[in-house]
Amino acid sequence: KPRVRFAPSPTGYLHIGGARTALFNWLWARRTGGTFVLRIEDTDRERSTQQAVEAIFDGMRWLGLDWDEGPDVGGPNGPYFQTERLDIYKAQAEKLIREGKAYACYCTKEELEVQRKQAEAEKRQFKYPGTCREKPYDPSKRHVIRFRVPETGSTSWDDLVKGTISTPHDTLQDEVILRGDGIPLYNFGVVVDDVTMKITLVGRGDDHVNNTARQILMYQALGYDVPVFAHFPMILGADKTRLSKRHGATSVTAYRDMGYLPEAVVNYLVRLGWSHGDQELFSLQEMIQLFDMKDVGATAGVFNPEKMQWVNHEWLKRLAPPELARRALPHFRAAGLPAEDDAKLLHVVTVAQERARTLSEYASQFRYFYAPIALDPKARDKFLVPASKPLLQAVRDGVAAMQALETPALEKLFHEAAESRGLGVGKVAQPVRVALTGGTASPGIYDVVQILGRAETLARLDEALK
Ligand code: GLU
Repeated sequence: KPRVRFAPSPTGYLHIGGARTALFNWLWARRTGGTFVLRIEDTDRERSTQQAVEAIFDGMRWLGLDWDEGPDVGGPNGPYFQTERLDIYKAQAEKLIREGKAYACYCTKEELEVQRKQAEAEKRQFKYPGTCREKPYDPSKRHVIRFRVPETGSTSWDDLVKGTISTPHDTLQDEVILRGDGIPLYNFGVVVDDVTMKITLVGRGDDHVNNTARQILMYQALGYDVPVFAHFPMILGADKTRLSKRHGATSVTAYRDMGYLPEAVVNYLVRLGWSHGDQELFSLQEMIQLFDMKDVGATAGVFNPEKMQWVNHEWLKRLAPPELARRALPHFRAAGLPAEDDAKLLHVVTVAQERARTLSEYASQFRYFYAPIALDPKARDKFLVPASKPLLQAVRDGVAAMQALETPALEKLFHEAAESRGLGVGKVAQPVRVALTGGTASPGIYDVVQILGRAETLARLDEALK
């Protein structure tokens, strides 16, 4: 059974690109009945924060990407924070030293700096010259541990996404795997973790392609099977550069706060790099049934905010109104509107369902159901004119006298007000709409009256009649 993992560094929020990496791995685990491991790569102590760890959990939970092993849930291969695994790295590094596959390097920073400057002056790439390769191990002296890279030959692997990739060893150097303070460097930490967590498939961003040969050499040195690799192309912005803040929001939770549904975000993300015919909309269940690592494309997906909005709109249309109301409520609240999870909100989202592309658009488009209207001056000048006063008055009196604000009664009222004056019903509805909503576009006017209720409807009509 496949074991896959997502191994974010907690240095910021959960990025759209990271979320897609997590999603592909998660889908593969769910598809195959395998295991999805979450591991936090927090060895960069300066940049890692608890807040970022929480943000990653938060983003993943919101998307519905649960983990089988990892922080909180635990598991047999923990701990799942790298900084809690330092003794494991140390033991593995010492094993490599004993077997002659790694060695202690006593060169000082200053010595290495001199060599680096020298290389720069001679316009050649600096490469650690192996100064300490043959020196005996003396743990009492200040040292780092370096990995011994073969001088000749090459390492290659068949990447599930990129095909066969080969790296000649003479392009590599004896890199540091463990610092003096016991902190592993990325390549070593990741290999030790993937080995001890029994990962069978490493799916990650293709910014790590350059690390893979070096990691494979370490798997071999440690005596373990090399996992399968799948390197996903980076997500690009419209200008074909790597997606970044310049292209708009890149954090998963920013999309939550803007009123996107998690269903829509995972749907949009899965399509950035994976396809199934020309189908655009997939539920999580469908994705689980259909996703295959082998179908991940080798060309980079371009992030398209309009497309994502379209996907969101499609998912909004598919929500049952009570669920839509429940999800929209926090967005009304965030907009400062006193909405409740009640019949009124249910009525608002029901009549508005096709009109908004995000949950926060419900709150912005339908403010007037919960707050005083913002009267559009153009609409006022066109519709709240002396000639419409008798129409507004007729509706006002009719609503005041009505037993219950039921649709047939409202229809009758509007039709009589119009027909008695030889007008079409729209001629009555439009000024009423402006009086009640502040503008010329809204859901059906009878719904508007019903949602506002009698008292508020009368108050707004009276205001327009002043
Ligand atoms: N911590 C690394 C990153 O966030 C993980 C890379 C990997 O999956 O090996 O890029």
